[in-house]
Amino acid sequence: MNSRRTFLRELAGAARDAAAGGASPVSAPKPGAGLSEAELERYSRQLVLPEWGEKAQLALREAKVLVVGAGALGSPVAAYLAGAGVGRLGIVDGDSVEVSDLHRQHLHFTPDAGVPKAHSAAAKLAFLNPEVVVEPYQVRLDEANAAGLVEGNDLVVDCSDSFATSYAVNAACCAAGVALVEGGVLATGGMVMAIRPGETACYRCAFPEPPASAPSCAEAGVLGPAAGVIGSLQALEAIKLLSGVGEPLTDAFLQADLATHAYVRVAVARRSDCPDCAV
Ligand SMILES: [Zn+2]
Repeated sequence: MNSRRTFLRELAGAARDAAAGGASPVSAPKPGAGLSEAELERYSRQLVLPEWGEKAQLALREAKVLVVGAGALGSPVAAYLAGAGVGRLGIVDGDSVEVSDLHRQHLHFTPDAGVPKAHSAAAKLAFLNPEVVVEPYQVRLDEANAAGLVEGNDLVVDCSDSFATSYAVNAACCAAGVALVEGGVLATGGMVMAIRPGETACYRCAFPEPPASAPSCAEAGVLGPAAGVIGSLQALEAIKLLSGVGEPLTDAFLQADLATHAYVRVAVARRSDCPDCAV
C-alpha cells in the first residue's frame, strides 16, 4: 500500500509539473498544504489520470461551488462534485422531497419524503465524502437573493427547473464574475452550457428571451436517466472549469436528444447588447 501511495504522490507531482502551462482553473490552490495520505487514497482514480494530478486536485479542494437545485440535475451534480473533492458545496433548494421525485432525484430516498431537499442532499453528501463542507440553504433562489447566494463562490451550477431562476442565476454570476454551468432537462432531452462571465457568451447571450411556453416536468414528464446524463455533463463541465483540465463547453451549448442520441453543439457568440454580460 505504501509503495502505491508513493507512486500516486510521485505521479501527482509529475502531472502537476506537466500541467503548469495548461488552462488556468477558476479556483487557484493556496500554496503550502499538499494532499494528505487519505486524500491520495480517496482521489487515486483521478490522480492516476495523466492530465490530472495534485494541482487539479488542490484546485478542487480550494473551490467553493453553489449548486442551485437539489433535484434531478442537482443530485448527480452535487454527488460528483462532492465525490471529486470540491472543498465547499452550497446546496440551494426551497422544496421538500416528494415520492414522485425519487425516480430521478438520486440523493433522496423514500424515507426522506417531506424532508427539505437541501438538508436531505447535505446528509447524503456528508456520507459520500466527509472531507467536503456542505452548506444547505433551504430557500428558492430568486432575483432578490441571487446576488447574496452567488457571492463568494468560485462557480455556480444551475440545476433549477425554471427559466426565471436560470436568468436570475445568470445575471448574478455575470455581475459577480463567477463561472457558471447551465443545464436543463425535459422529457428525454436537455442542454448544457459552460460560461466564463466577461470572457465567453452567457446564458442570455444564447437565449435572449425565455420561451413563450415552457411546460414543467410535472406537465411534460421526464425520464430519470435523461436527467442523469445532463446532470453528469454539468458536473463534468464544472470539474473542467475548476481544475483547468480539459476544454470547457464555452461559447457554445450542447443540445442532446437522448431519445435518438442526436447531439448538436451550437456555437454562441457574446452579444454586445446583452443586458447581463455586456460591458
Ligand atoms: Zn451575455
